Amino acid sequence: MHVIVVGAGLGGLALALALARAGIDATAVEQAEAFGEVGAGLQLSPNAMGALRSLGAEEAVRAAGFAPQAAEVRSHRGALLLKNPLGAAAEARWGAPYLQIHRADLHAILLQAVQEVGRTTLRLGARVAAVEAGGVVLEGGERLTGDAVIGCDGVRSVVRAALWGEGAARSTGDVAWRGVVPADRLPAGLIAPMAAVWTGPHRHFVHYPVRGGALINFIAVTEEKHWRIESWSEPGDKAALAAEFTGWPPSVQALIAGADSVMRWALYGRPPLPRWSKGSASLLGDAAHPMLPFLAQGAAMAIEDAVVLARCLASGEGTEPSLARYEEARRARTAKVQAWSRRNATLFHLPGPATRAAFGGAALIDRVTPGGGAGRFDWLYGYDAAATRVW
Ligand SMILES: Cc1cc2nc3c(=O)[nH]c(=O)nc-3n(C[C@H](O)[C@H](O)[C@H](O)COP(=O)(O)OP(=O)(O)OC[C@H]3O[C@@H](n4cnc5c(N)ncnc54)[C@H](O)[C@@H]3O)c2cc1C
Repeated sequence: MHVIVVGAGLGGLALALALARAGIDATAVEQAEAFGEVGAGLQLSPNAMGALRSLGAEEAVRAAGFAPQAAEVRSHRGALLLKNPLGAAAEARWGAPYLQIHRADLHAILLQAVQEVGRTTLRLGARVAAVEAGGVVLEGGERLTGDAVIGCDGVRSVVRAALWGEGAARSTGDVAWRGVVPADRLPAGLIAPMAAVWTGPHRHFVHYPVRGGALINFIAVTEEKHWRIESWSEPGDKAALAAEFTGWPPSVQALIAGADSVMRWALYGRPPLPRWSKGSASLLGDAAHPMLPFLAQGAAMAIEDAVVLARCLASGEGTEPSLARYEEARRARTAKVQAWSRRNATLFHLPGPATRAAFGGAALIDRVTPGGGAGRFDWLYGYDAAATRVW
């Protein structure tokens, strides 16, 4: 079997690695001429880390990442709304660690592993323009053929459009601003070694350490009706971002001030697709189930998809039955994650008393049974892509 993987982002490289580990050859076609420091931080929850473990990448990710001790949600006035223990508690409960990593570091780890295993041909500077029976056509006209074509080409997927049409993308009116700041540029002790979420009316701010604590990543979400560009590399105006968070806690202000630059990403909602696969082609990651970032699960779902899809294709059943099993195993879970991500978008931006009430239920469960609130994440973090039933 030979698989054409369209897009060598996190999902495409995870798939190439999973296929190679299963003894399947692939050609990974990537439009970028070279890979760089694209993106910013990612949270890797235990379900993602379990999948990376099955790909043999856990140790490298642990070494490059950062293990937060807890995740805290506070109001922008400083009141603690919720605290979830992570660290050893997360690993004991869900069987794998909860880590934070720079996207470029995870991408480099996957790329190195793909190159070491050696069953993948990587084509850089090659953009897929069309999908046809049994293969793809590159810009410039070159045709590549394979037993399966998997679109791992992100939110604006060409493969998804070829299989199922453009579909409806609805602007949420939210914009995510992203930046990273060297930790030694910040006052000592200002940033706690954890994932911190600050909530307020119409905006919220998330920060956490990556790269062993040497960098602090932040994501700020504001409401802005007219911004339309979905891109990892669209620059934003730092002064405008600072103005949005005037009067917020010192850590928020120091991070905005300390960033060399900020990027902006317009957030679009897309309903779950009723089908992913057609003939010998299918979709994976953001191409299949683009989601808002409010549950920090987009990359996690792409990596889970990769592990499950490689298991299905390695079954020897043939391409179309394997793709049907993959979809069957993955569609309901990813649709649920999309729905939870949309729900969090509302939750984080409620006015003060409503936010306190919304988080109060979870905080009460934690007070009655310490750590008990963690149970509401069991379905998400306890999933094992390498063991889940696919036939
Ligand atoms: C603000 C923000 C914060 C986030 N935080 C988290 C988090 O904490 N945890 C988490 O798990 N996820 C998070 N995510 C989501 C995560 O980044 C994405 O879900 C993940 O990158 C999806 O991977 P992918 O491989 O499907 O797509 P991408 O990473 O977008 O990769 C697609 C690749 O395909 C290539 N490509 C596109 N079109 C073509 C073509 N026609 N031909 C060839 N190549 C092509 C692109 O160049 C790219 O390399 C966040 C997202 C955002 C916006």
